[in-house]
Amino acid sequence: MFETHEECLVCLEEIRWDGTPTCPYCGSVKATKYKKKHRYRCNSCFTSYSVTVGTLFHKTHVDLRKWFRAILLLRKLNPDISIRKLAQEIQVNRATASQMVNRIVTASPEQAEILRKIVREIEKRS
Ligand SMILES: [Zn+2]
Repeated sequence: MFETHEECLVCLEEIRWDGTPTCPYCGSVKATKYKKKHRYRCNSCFTSYSVTVGTLFHKTHVDLRKWFRAILLLRKLNPDISIRKLAQEIQVNRATASQMVNRIVTASPEQAEILRKIVREIEKRS
């Protein structure tokens, strides 16, 4: 499994960008990396972004390790898991767990592909 939120971000960057940060707003690949935190500033539209913008992880304030664990559980280990049980497993409250499940099960084909790749990466590491 992934040890830190940061490792999850790196993994997501590889999956989504394949090494080239791409602006989710204008599609430009010209970006300046901030020193910390895996944030980038687009040199074309001057917006700052991270890899989670435009994905189901955006604006959830949930550690990506919890997201990854939830994805693994729902898509692989226990698709019938209850919200209550999932909330316990990944230590979030029920409202958050419910929101996460909703985003995972209603993921667009493009997002679902990212989820499949995440599961593959987790399996590689376990
Ligand atoms: Zn841009």
